[in-house]
Amino acid sequence: SYEFSEFGRHLGCGSGIEELMDDLGHAIASGGPDLKMLGGGQPARIPEMNAVWRRRLEELMEEDGGLQRSLTSYDPPRGNPHFLQAVATLFRETFCWKLGPENVAVTSGGQTAFYFLFNLLAGKMPDDSRRKILLPLVPEYIGYANQGVGGDLFRAVPPLIEKTAPHEFKYRVDFDALEVTPDIAAICVSRPTNPTGNVLTDEEIARLSSIAKENNIPLIIDNAYGAPFPGIIFADATPFWDTHVVLTYSLSKIGLPGTRTGIVIGPPELIRALGSMSAIAGLSNPNIGQQITLPLIRSGEILSLSREVVRPFYQEKCNLARQAAVDAFGDDIEWYMHRSEGALFLWFWFPQLKITSQELYERLKKREVLVIPGQHFFFGLDDEGWPHRHQCIRVSYAMDEAVVRAGLRIIAEEVRGA
Ligand code: PLP
Repeated sequence: SYEFSEFGRHLGCGSGIEELMDDLGHAIASGGPDLKMLGGGQPARIPEMNAVWRRRLEELMEEDGGLQRSLTSYDPPRGNPHFLQAVATLFRETFCWKLGPENVAVTSGGQTAFYFLFNLLAGKMPDDSRRKILLPLVPEYIGYANQGVGGDLFRAVPPLIEKTAPHEFKYRVDFDALEVTPDIAAICVSRPTNPTGNVLTDEEIARLSSIAKENNIPLIIDNAYGAPFPGIIFADATPFWDTHVVLTYSLSKIGLPGTRTGIVIGPPELIRALGSMSAIAGLSNPNIGQQITLPLIRSGEILSLSREVVRPFYQEKCNLARQAAVDAFGDDIEWYMHRSEGALFLWFWFPQLKITSQELYERLKKREVLVIPGQHFFFGLDDEGWPHRHQCIRVSYAMDEAVVRAGLRIIAEEVRGA
């Protein structure tokens, strides 16, 4: 057997999330026609958006040089220069932010952007000290966990839980508990948040931004579902940027996950570093997503598609799923749903659950309902004794309404039975 490096041990030897994804994958592969897949992060296939992608592919085939730009050439490591310029112009003109192409980098999906950003800023420093990424609120996106090439990268703060309506709650940043110690390299949040559908308020974002600025560290805001594209956001929330803020975007949730296109907006020194990292790790990035969307970004059509097609599509699905939850859970058990302000998920909390979310997941899997057990989203937090982290599950509502409804009915039966 071969000996693995530190890097190899941290990244090449499996993780909780890999096990879970593998488990879900096997369940899907061996599942019958009754399988209810409510576990993944797969966006819905929206017919109007697929028509746009088809149109753009046809245009690329027709255009002089279209094939060359999208398939048969390497782009520069930081991204196609026309695409970087178009993104900078879109954000400058839409939000009056003072940024240019030097503030933009493309990565191979948003996931890679985080891998690069976290390891660029945190981990082992030249003086042998260790720095961490501060998550001001967990639960937070499971895909961040395990990304550190030198081991654990996160310090997380538990949220305040506010009951906002019968059967509804919202997590808030606990600013009294938030402390930026000298070993914090950056603050990071997803907005809307995967898994909860929480959208940090403008006030919370403004406070986090000033805390980051005072401490001379970046604030990273993950807009995988956010405004202005794909715009899967139902709450009033103003996009925010400043010279110490890093924004990440993705073409995945607007419907192009297979193109692996992430977009980062941030200070030029970080953007240059991302280009260097892309060159070393992958020479250059996939360019088909950039070429499919370039004219849509130039014309602003990507904004109107987000507003008029993508957001209403998910808003409708979200409303149907919430109603299905109310119908399934009724009033005889204690259950709460996080206020649904964006993304593709409902986040349920069962305070009286006598089994853990992991056991609930196992029982649901036996009944061919796949969800994500909530404990995975509470990384970076030492407090194992906090019962809340074992009382939640994430349910995707991107699938057909009938599947979501049937799945929720079975979830309610299992919660009642437990
Ligand atoms: N950030 C969040 C919050 C996500 O949910 C996801 C994907 O599910 C990503 C980032 C990464 O997406 P991608 O690598 O497809 O751009």
